[in-house]
Amino acid sequence: MRYPKLLEPLDLGFTTIKNRSIMGSMHTGLEEMEGGFERMAGYFAERAAAGVGMIITGGIFPNAESSRGGATMSNDEEVGNHRMVTSAVHAADPDVKICMQILHPGPLASTRELVAPSAVKSRIGRHVPNALDKAGIAKQISDHAHCAAMAQKAGYDGVEIIGSAGYLISTFLVEKTNLREDEYGGPFENRMRFALEIVEAVRAAVGPSFIVIFRIAAMDMLEGGMSWDEIVTLAQALERVGVTIISTHFTWHESAVPTIATMVPRAAFTGVTGRLRQHVSVPVITSNRINMPDVAEAVLARGDADLVSMARPFLADSEFMRKTIEGREDEINTCIACNQACLDHTFSGILTSCLVNPRACHETQLNYLPVLSPQRIAVVGAGPAGLAYATTAAQRGHSVTLFEASQEIGGQFNLAKRIPGKEEFHETIRYYKRMIEVHNIDLRLGVRADANILQAAGFDKVVVSTGITPRVPDIAGIDHPSVVGYIDVIQGRKPVGKRVAVIGAGGIGFDVCELITHSGPSGALDRNVFAAEWGVDFENHPRGGVTGVEPRVARADREVFLLQRKDSKVGSGLGKTTGWTHRLTLARRGVKMLNAVEYVKIDDAGLHIRQGGMPELLEVDTIIFCAGQEPARGLFDELAAMGIAADLIGGAFEAAELDAKAAIKQASYLAAAA
Ligand code: NAP
Ligand code: SF4
Repeated sequence: MRYPKLLEPLDLGFTTIKNRSIMGSMHTGLEEMEGGFERMAGYFAERAAAGVGMIITGGIFPNAESSRGGATMSNDEEVGNHRMVTSAVHAADPDVKICMQILHPGPLASTRELVAPSAVKSRIGRHVPNALDKAGIAKQISDHAHCAAMAQKAGYDGVEIIGSAGYLISTFLVEKTNLREDEYGGPFENRMRFALEIVEAVRAAVGPSFIVIFRIAAMDMLEGGMSWDEIVTLAQALERVGVTIISTHFTWHESAVPTIATMVPRAAFTGVTGRLRQHVSVPVITSNRINMPDVAEAVLARGDADLVSMARPFLADSEFMRKTIEGREDEINTCIACNQACLDHTFSGILTSCLVNPRACHETQLNYLPVLSPQRIAVVGAGPAGLAYATTAAQRGHSVTLFEASQEIGGQFNLAKRIPGKEEFHETIRYYKRMIEVHNIDLRLGVRADANILQAAGFDKVVVSTGITPRVPDIAGIDHPSVVGYIDVIQGRKPVGKRVAVIGAGGIGFDVCELITHSGPSGALDRNVFAAEWGVDFENHPRGGVTGVEPRVARADREVFLLQRKDSKVGSGLGKTTGWTHRLTLARRGVKMLNAVEYVKIDDAGLHIRQGGMPELLEVDTIIFCAGQEPARGLFDELAAMGIAADLIGGAFEAAELDAKAAIKQASYLAAAA
């Protein structure tokens, strides 16, 4: 067996988890949507049928004052909704456990009635919370217990109580958010009282044979956060009051260290879980950036944890565990930790899905059914859109020929994978390579398919996914030898000088700046580099893991200006959950970000601009343009002129605002209907 640790059952005494994989909690938006529980049932059942050991739902609120307009669990109607989910999961596989997460956001609630131990506003909260009085504390405890009892009634196998992330329970634990002077504040034994009383009340409400997981911030990444001694003390006390499992989490939402973004090394934090595991005898869950079975197996083999929680990897591939069990791990569609279609959506109030798998959370709507009349389909261009279309159509039974002018598949993914911190894109290319083999796609690399070739071959359908061409900005002197395009820079085909201006501050402008200011190994591949870059001390574990630790910035010897014409903040259009990491990284490396720039001309002296009406000369030796793209639709027009109908997808269809998420989604829906 390839993964003996990952596939080993875990005996909890009163029940058994069939393997060590957990689909971790993730709010999707289905919780609040009309008909969302039916869709959630389909979403979870598909993962249950494919072999996951245990599922934990997205956060469910215990009462109205905790609700951000989100789903609560406090009455029989809500029990009925949840029963649809638990029944579907247990029907898919009676051995799969499903637990409901109880989440009280505390100071992160968006209601005016929000509550917290003290009236301390979260850095990212909307309002100052109301400090709970004693009666209020008692009510919160009993609401948690009632919520757990309702979950049990709805058929769940357990609950997970979230005591991390900056939500209510964690704000009792940390000194700076708990200023109380009664028995719930002050010394740590008081600050942890609320957490322990909740667990005691929940255990009393659900009895001994029900899984109770408590999620703890084993490193909260807060200046002045929890000390290591406090974390150990809490874990041991939780065990005494009856938790079944302790789950380790890292970070609060407001902390300034990325913990799940793609620049975070795989399994970066599991060593912290491993240290905690030595202090308790209940099983311990670890998480964060574990996205392939070999990573999970290594974590378990090292003794870092008893169970491995993966949330986004199960969005990216519902068959993750089946492929693991059957030794088909090279067919896993790997989560690349981009957050673009999951957490960026969640925090924008948009239904969660997945960049690499648009079926995620759409299981009852987007299905790739076998075709009754297979067609011969030509797909031209093996970038994200072409790959998604070709592999989906071939999976359905069509006979697909995929033409690619270059010698490798991947298109824009081949640029992304060269950016330090974006190495996970290699996995997406590996996945598509494998799917091309599995579905017997006739791949023609190095072939520029023109209209005559396509016409002569007599395909039933032609799909044009020929991508984009970079937009050349209309600036006097743009032909000057100091000007280079981003593709040449990323592919290392053109040298870059010591003083650089980057025209265009979209995702690619930021990527280029990351590349040209980077020095040394990628932090995504080396935990020590990551720790130094972000100011984390894994060894000594000061409060929060970060208190008093200065980030040590390694940077290339280069002065860089990143420019845009808009007067908005530079980088404001980047991903909601990851944009700040890119802005902060470049700022630490000294990149000067200028907005409201007017480009005047380029000459031997450099780039002449105007800012606020004032002329300025940037004395640079290299100017890199990253000014967006135009559709490359020459082939489509050629076909149209010959009267050959074709479908146009990806950047060739619409280059503006196009990213891999939109390209894969469009291609997948079209191929599902072909
Ligand atoms: P983009 O996001 O559209 O940005 C283009 C930039 O060029 C803007 O800053 C724009 O700002 C500027 N610009 C546009 N027209 C210009 C002109 N005629 N002259 C001078 N400047 C001009 O495009 P991109 O950066 O090429 O990215 C392409 C797609 O890939 C986007 O959808 C992006 O989201 C995606 N992507 C995402 C990531 C990620 O990490 N999530 C990374 C890379 C790419 P002004 O108009 O204000 O000057
Ligand atoms: Fe992973 Fe990106 Fe998909 Fe989210 S959108 S699950 S981060 S691949």
